[in-house]
Amino acid sequence: MAMGYAKSIKNILFPEEHICSFCRENMAKPLSYICPSCMELVEVLNREVNLNLPHVEKVYYSVLYNRFIREKVHAFKFQGKTYLYKPFGEILIDTIEANGLKSKIEAIIFVPIHRRKKALRGYNQSELLAFYVAKALNMPLLKGHLIKTKWTFEQNKLGKIERKINLKDSFKAVNIEDFKGKEILLIDDIITTGATMEECAKVLVENGAKKVYGLALTSSIKL
Ligand SMILES: [Zn+2]
Repeated sequence: MAMGYAKSIKNILFPEEHICSFCRENMAKPLSYICPSCMELVEVLNREVNLNLPHVEKVYYSVLYNRFIREKVHAFKFQGKTYLYKPFGEILIDTIEANGLKSKIEAIIFVPIHRRKKALRGYNQSELLAFYVAKALNMPLLKGHLIKTKWTFEQNKLGKIERKINLKDSFKAVNIEDFKGKEILLIDDIITTGATMEECAKVLVENGAKKVYGLALTSSIKL
């Protein structure tokens, strides 16, 4: 992990010593939510990918979608293990540092889910990740600025063309004066074709955002 601004913030974010959030057995490394043996299972990429998304400036993702990450993401998304936003947030911050992204962005936003889905699940995992990143970078979190208006099918069950059709006109921006002229970081948990990110970025740019950068934790396909 790079030192500097992040180190001083980590001193505030992390308690003196604590258990690893992934295995909940070993002690986490200092200023981290992850223990050394879990960290060995995380294949860090901190990669910029070229998906040719017209409204997204650049897209990055953090780690390889290996068995360990797949299980943890599944627990985070579908088994109510909301506390996993902390180690995952820590991983996202590492990608932001490794790619010098902090100086390019002014606010953090996330891919929204439909309010009915949020009511069912109780939380939006991407919002939790964005909350961590905004706090760690001391930047505003744009909450309730991007709304999912259409109930859509799970993207992972669809092909590339179907994904685009499925998402068409399914997001709406509100309170646009808060992000007008700003460079925004858009956070999601998993990126596949980038169709979701592109749809969100399109709405943001059409409503005045200067630039949108995309960041996902992992990618379910090899990018
Ligand atoms: Zn561990």
